[in-house]
Amino acid sequence: MTNKYVCPICGSKDLTLRHEASYIYSYIIDSDVPGLKNSKEFHSYQYDKREQKDSRDYVECNLCRTQYPQQFLSGVLLTDNRHGENQML
Ligand SMILES: [Zn+2]
Repeated sequence: MTNKYVCPICGSKDLTLRHEASYIYSYIIDSDVPGLKNSKEFHSYQYDKREQKDSRDYVECNLCRTQYPQQFLSGVLLTDNRHGENQML
């Protein structure tokens, strides 16, 4: 597997983009099981309301576990960036 991104800390190219989110699912209590859409048994996916609380995107290096903002994909994580003024060759 090759890609044009590299971890600037450890040099690994094994990176993963992650989307992390948290939600609150609400189920209205009625005469049978909770949730207006649930009548015989409770299914967590049969919710009445879903609110997203937080979400964030980040890129994680699978080797050293450093996390970077997603915007770094167009910046410091690009291998092309290494051919700039800091070139060590
Ligand atoms: Zn790394």
